[in-house]
Amino acid sequence: VKEELLRPVRGMSDVPPSRARRLRQVEDAAIAAMRRFGYREIRTPILEKTALFARPLGEHSDLVEKEMFTFNSNNDDDGDDGKGGEKVSLRPEATVSVARALLAQGIGRGGVARMFYAGAMFRRERPQRGRYRQFHQFGAEVVGSGDAEADAELITMCRDLWRDLQIGDALDLQINNLGEAAERARHREKLADYFRRYADDLDADSRRRIDKNPLRILDSKEPRTKEIAANAPRLADELGADSRRFVDEVRAKLAAAGIAAKENPALVRGLDYYNLTVFEWTRKNDARAQNAVCGGGRYDGLTAQIGGGDKKIPACGFAAGIERVAELIAEEHGGDEMDAPDVYLVVGAEGGDKDEKIARHAAVVADALRAAGLDVFRNLDGGNISRQLHRASIKRVKIAIIVGEDEAAQNAATIKFMGEKAPPDSRQIRAPLADLAAAARKMI
Ligand code: ATP
Ligand code: MG
Repeated sequence: VKEELLRPVRGMSDVPPSRARRLRQVEDAAIAAMRRFGYREIRTPILEKTALFARPLGEHSDLVEKEMFTFNSNNDDDGDDGKGGEKVSLRPEATVSVARALLAQGIGRGGVARMFYAGAMFRRERPQRGRYRQFHQFGAEVVGSGDAEADAELITMCRDLWRDLQIGDALDLQINNLGEAAERARHREKLADYFRRYADDLDADSRRRIDKNPLRILDSKEPRTKEIAANAPRLADELGADSRRFVDEVRAKLAAAGIAAKENPALVRGLDYYNLTVFEWTRKNDARAQNAVCGGGRYDGLTAQIGGGDKKIPACGFAAGIERVAELIAEEHGGDEMDAPDVYLVVGAEGGDKDEKIARHAAVVADALRAAGLDVFRNLDGGNISRQLHRASIKRVKIAIIVGEDEAAQNAATIKFMGEKAPPDSRQIRAPLADLAAAARKMI
């Protein structure tokens, strides 16, 4: 066996049950919170036409330039990547897909659409803690509303969810106003002019970006570039009254809801489709580059960018990283725990005819316990009773239920408490089938 083959693709991982359970808890809680606000699930394909992403995400964004997993949709007769067909990409995010799907279905007929999704996203980034090539997001979109109430609602929904997950105190909300496209274009020009004057002092990457994407220079980590960037023209100075009023209204609604938002003029978000409100939930006291768990904002221009006609369809949304939320929970409230079933069913067997009868009784016992809502793991590894009990303790179940010859004869089962501290009654009791589930529950 080639060991190399057993390893997953770089940046992607196998998730054991203990961690998978945490991820599912996050996803379930998120879905519950979003449903409470009237959002409903939409599912879109994981594969999209590559061309769909270029404009909304930004032709010169890292995402589009180098981070998408892209291949040809056709294959040759020998199954290789063919020449014909069209280029398709694994989705790096889902907002563009949701907007596309709604446009395809002709949105607007039923008024404002509130949608949520949860699923895998793919970005060919350098893998590191909190940054993977396959990761998972849940997110919500409000499509068809230009009301500041929509922006505030999304943020309120996040706040409620963090509270449900008991990580509210570990997160900060940052907010910024990106204005409208024309205001950003004007700022971009001024920024490019400014950086051109300092071109010789900038690092090579930043110099290359002056014409294509001067905003990215503001994110540079090079000390001298950072110094220069600190005095660069500010977008805030280009914003007109309408833009300012809109985001101020969002802020006022948040304040009224008791949500503290920190002003962050450096918050630009990676993607091109945003305007006006942008926000991010980041981990407090954490300066790592992967400290954001959730980001979003308004994207009124997106539908037009992907060919939805000239008419603007106002919209806003957010996406959260499920792994990052789960990691935060683990750090705040302790690491992964084993995901033990409630009951390990020990089936005594001595060999011979009696075994068949015991096995049949074990099946009846398992049925009764499952019908009462307990998770039952029936022994399949053979072995005598003490070996089976040993396995039960490795699995960390709270109770083992033993079915042997006597139990089968009495239509009963023996419950053995496997935890640290036995309940006052006793460590081991025999209960008739009719009382078994209730007695088992009491011990758990
Ligand atoms: P970052 O600044 O951390 O790269 P981003 O701005 O690229 O994040 P978004 O596109 O806004 O991220 O996605 C929303 C959320 O998805 C992020 O806040 C983060 O929690 C999560 N996320 C993004 N990229 C990754 C990744 N490669 N691995 C794991 N989670 C990710
Ligand atoms: Mg990123």
